[in-house]
Amino acid sequence: MKDSISFRARFLYSDGQKLIDEIKVIEVKNGVIIEEREKKWDIDLINYTAIPAFSDLHLHFPQFWTMGKFKGTLFEWLEHIIDEEEKYNNLKFAEETAFYFKNALIKNGILYAGVYGSKHARTIRYLINFFKRYPLHIILGKVIMDRGGNTEKEWQETLSLLKMYRERTALIPRFAPSVTEEMLIRIGNYVKKNPQTFVFTHLSETKDEIATVKKLFKNYSSYTELYEKTGILSQNTLLGHGIYLTDDELNTVKRNGSWIIHCPSSNFFLHSGNMKTKYYLDKGIKIGMGSDIGAGVNLDFFELMRIAYFNSSLKLHKLLYMATRRDALGVRFLGGFKKGDFADFILLKGYPDIDEIVFKYNSSLIKEVFFRGKLIEENLS
Ligand SMILES: [Zn+2]
Repeated sequence: MKDSISFRARFLYSDGQKLIDEIKVIEVKNGVIIEEREKKWDIDLINYTAIPAFSDLHLHFPQFWTMGKFKGTLFEWLEHIIDEEEKYNNLKFAEETAFYFKNALIKNGILYAGVYGSKHARTIRYLINFFKRYPLHIILGKVIMDRGGNTEKEWQETLSLLKMYRERTALIPRFAPSVTEEMLIRIGNYVKKNPQTFVFTHLSETKDEIATVKKLFKNYSSYTELYEKTGILSQNTLLGHGIYLTDDELNTVKRNGSWIIHCPSSNFFLHSGNMKTKYYLDKGIKIGMGSDIGAGVNLDFFELMRIAYFNSSLKLHKLLYMATRRDALGVRFLGGFKKGDFADFILLKGYPDIDEIVFKYNSSLIKEVFFRGKLIEENLS
């Protein structure tokens, strides 16, 4: 029996430097592209356009039902959200949401995700086990919020999740205002000993938030310095938003090899501000993209690229690269359809060029989604 499968299609992707648009045959074995060939194929997808699967590098599972709700700025909005997230103490409710959540990701062609969970360790355990049954690469963690609470208990719950699911979970101090300095130091010490651990958090999303951080952490000259000095910045740290970073702070992010995750839809929805994406890229900052649902209004990455363009004019292939990179989640990214890459891709209806993909397309024009070279045949209704 043949243990590999080959596809012919039009492949359109970006390696960060340029757009690549080619018709070719790829051969896939054990989910990985092993060969690019000229002739012969098992499956012909020539009437469609294949692009790499999307990577949503910043989104909140327990805000799934709040997309498009609760208008206001960040702090007003968070008041509602904290109550909403409390519902996930109920495992039954979390189970039901998980089913819709994974369907929504797949339908939107998002096969890679860095997900903030709720603060309930039991729920996080359930969710990690749930998602690993599906064709998705998800890193999901418990949100840590020990300010005004019990630092020791929060930390022990977090540690037990890390011990059980090292590869699939992350340390997630929600943002500086919801954690103590002691907690950040504990996280930093853990990261020093275990540098492969993912850290997800928010950074400099609004001016009010920055003012609050200044009041709460008087010994640090900036929000980013707080994160660096407590040790939580590493090359596996994904910083959501990062809108108001000074040059000094950008240098700190770069020096530590950390990521900025751009969430343009959410930034507009909450009127948080405009990130200077081009400036950051020119400075050599690694940037990924996040829907940030529920402050982001949906999981449509075509729309997200569009909004990112309206926010900051960039070459379109750079947007596609930002939307599809998976290296932030510890998965190699060789450009989408090169030898050695995972065959995780989306088939689009038609033969759009990159302009049409960014400005005219939406998720309803996804014909099919493939994970590790296999068609995803889930019933997604
Ligand atoms: Zn967020």
